[in-house]
Parts: sequence; C-alpha cells; structure tokens
Amino acid sequence: MTTFDPCNQPGLRPYLDAKQDMLSQLDKVSKSELVSLDQLLNRILADDLLSPIDVPSFANSAMDGYALRAEDVQEGTALTLIGTSLAGQPFNGRVGTGECVRIMTGAALPLGADAVVMQENCRSEHNFISPQGTITEGQNVRQPAEDLTQGERVFTAGTRINARVLAVLSSLGLEQLYVRRPLTVALLSTGDELKTPGELLGPGDIYDSNRIGIRAMLQRLGVTVLDYGIIKDDPALIRQALVKAASEADAIVTSGGVSVGDADYIKQVLDEVGRIGFWKLAIKPGKPFAFGQINDCPFFGLPGNPVSAAVTFHLLVRPALAKLAGEPLPAPVTLQATALMPFKKTPGRMDFQRGCVSTQADGSLGVVAAGAQSSGVFSAMAQANCLLHLEQDRGNVAEGEHVTLELIDGLYW
Ligand code: AMP
Ligand code: MG
Repeated sequence: MTTFDPCNQPGLRPYLDAKQDMLSQLDKVSKSELVSLDQLLNRILADDLLSPIDVPSFANSAMDGYALRAEDVQEGTALTLIGTSLAGQPFNGRVGTGECVRIMTGAALPLGADAVVMQENCRSEHNFISPQGTITEGQNVRQPAEDLTQGERVFTAGTRINARVLAVLSSLGLEQLYVRRPLTVALLSTGDELKTPGELLGPGDIYDSNRIGIRAMLQRLGVTVLDYGIIKDDPALIRQALVKAASEADAIVTSGGVSVGDADYIKQVLDEVGRIGFWKLAIKPGKPFAFGQINDCPFFGLPGNPVSAAVTFHLLVRPALAKLAGEPLPAPVTLQATALMPFKKTPGRMDFQRGCVSTQADGSLGVVAAGAQSSGVFSAMAQANCLLHLEQDRGNVAEGEHVTLELIDGLYW
C-alpha cells in the first residue's frame, strides 16, 4: 500500500521535462578573451582547437635500445655500433647496412634506421650488437603525427580546460588561447533568521550556510560571484536586490523564500519584476525550486533547506550555467548499484537521496544511505559520495534491489 504524501500533489513538473524547458529558454551569453597558458585552468575554449603541429613532429624511439634497419637482422647478425641518439641530442649521421645506433626513449630515429630493438633483447660485445629474435620495420618507433596531425581538431569549442586538456595544449606549444569570459552570477540568501558566521546568533537565528556552499560551487566552476549577502524577508528589499542583480549579472541565484510560507516572497517579487518560467517540480529534495527571468537575466530560486539548495543547484543551475557559458554538458554518467539496505520512497517525485557507494568484495557496487535523508540534514550530504536517482513512480526500495546513482565526489561540490 502506498501512503499518501501531501508533497506529491499531482501536476508537479517532472524533472527532465522542466530541465529541457529551462535550457531551451537560455542562450550562450559569454564573450571570449585571450588568456595565457598559466591562467587557462578551468576556463572554457571559445573555438574549436586545431593542432598547429604534428605530434610527434619527428619519428622517435619508444624504448631504450638500438636503432637499426629491420631487414639487416637475421639469425646471428652482429651490427656495428656507430653512435648514440639521446632525447634532445639526435645522432647526425646515417645508419647504413650492418650498422646500429644506441638510442634512448624519445630520441629522434636516425636517418636510415626503421626500427628499434629493446636493449633487453640484445647482446653487446665490444662495438658489436646482436639483436635476438625477429625485428619488423617500425617496431618500437613512434611515427610522426601518430598522435595528432597538423590541422586536426583536438578539442571542440566549449571544452572545459582541466589538467589533462591543459597538458595537451602545452604539448602543442600554445602560449595563449581564446576562452570564454567567466560568467558573473549574483548570489544572495533570504531569511530573517540568517546570520553570517562570526556574528552572534539571536533567538531563533541560524548561520547562513547556503550562500557559502553555493558560492564555493560557483567558484569551482570558474564563475565570478557577486555576493549580495543576506536579504531580509521583506518584499521591498528583495525587489531592490533582484532588480540590481539583474542589471549587474549574467544570472541570479537566491536561496530561501520560494516555498508557500508566510515569509516566502521570492515568487511574488519575481512575478512583479520579471516572469516566472516554472515553480515546483516533481523532485525530492527541492520541490519549490523556481526558474524565471528578470529583464532577460535568468533567475534561479533555490529552496532554503540546505540539502534542497545544493541538490537543485546540481540538477538545474549547473546545467543552466553550462548552457550560458557555451559548455556542452553531457547527461550525467550513472551507475547501477545494489541497495545494501532499504530506502524509503513514495511514488510521485523523483528522489535524489544521498548515498555512500562502495565496491564490494565480489567487485559489484553496493550503496547505503549517507545518514538521515531529511532535507535539513546537510551533514549527511557532506558524507555522501553519490546521489541516488530513484525514479518518479518508484516506491520503496528493498534491500538487494538495484538502484541508479550518480557519483558526486571529485566534481565541483
Ligand atoms: P525557506 O525556503 O526560506 O522556507 O527555508 C527553509 C528552511 O531552510 C528553513 O529551516 C530555513 O531556516 C532554512 N534556510 C533558509 N535559508 C538558509 C540558508 N541560507 N542557510 C541555511 N539554512 C537556510
Ligand atoms: Mg525563509
């Protein structure tokens, strides 16, 4: 029997439908700028990147050994050693019939040679080298352009520059590149009860954690944050802040005040100064998430509950910011794991419960809840390494059933 949950009222917008609708209303806003290599980490490529050179640009050895002509090697051959080719110090002569050159990994293959034999497979006596076994042409040789050809597209526009991309850019000799100007996002918390860490708490007060957490996520995404601080639950003050933010930022992110409580003014103000795209989704946590626009500036109203704020940021704001920044974001990679304990779930909303997934002794994945699942309990969120994606119509999950999940460690949050 399914218990009735008043939060699962019919007509709530399914997550993927709302996300698609939101993304279709957003355009790339970011302009590009020329930035030097040492400042490129975490920036987004403005254009397709074509390789300016062949990689490698010359034939070189993949092993420490001897460069030779493959056709010279027969049973019992002894080749005359005529020189050495080191990385950065090529051998300048030519390898003739019956000759070889000592060569190290990365060193240029000398003219005339067409293969390298590993030193472990050679006998050396005085100035003569006897390779063991058969050698084929091209063996242990890295050919020019084997990795990249000059003019080939290496990365597409919109690629985020991580450490690996940065290393490739550097290997191509690029010292500066056009990347997108960082997005500017105005961020504020609403709530009469909120204090900034360092301030004294009065009766009924709590510390503002959403702004600090969301700001950190934005910073890790390379966004420039305009921090508007804490705004009281006062429609006039909220109106003033939102109108100012819309004139200064590429997007606005708020937390709190989107629910149906007596002091929840965000929706009302958004309706007055802009327009509401949608409000209330069939997700848990995060049902009261609001999306809209104020003078063409996209607005994202996160719920106040800290878990709801973080999860809706990930589910909706992160993809929206990617669209604004011109960064194509693939659908999250999901995994299947076995529930190692029961999970409570009511049909009606897609439920993103916080989990800890680990590899079991038999190599399969198993997941347990990362502590209490109430949307006010952020400590469990901080312990979690994954978000379960429990389908909208699904009911309780029994121990041993399979669930879909998304890893969240190592991302931006
Ligand atoms: P609200 O969405 O404004 O109704 O807030 C829902 C719950 O989240 C309440 O318990 C608030 O006190 C709490 N809350 C709202 N904003 C924040 C914030 N910035 N940091 C931590 N908790 C918050
Ligand atoms: Mg509030």
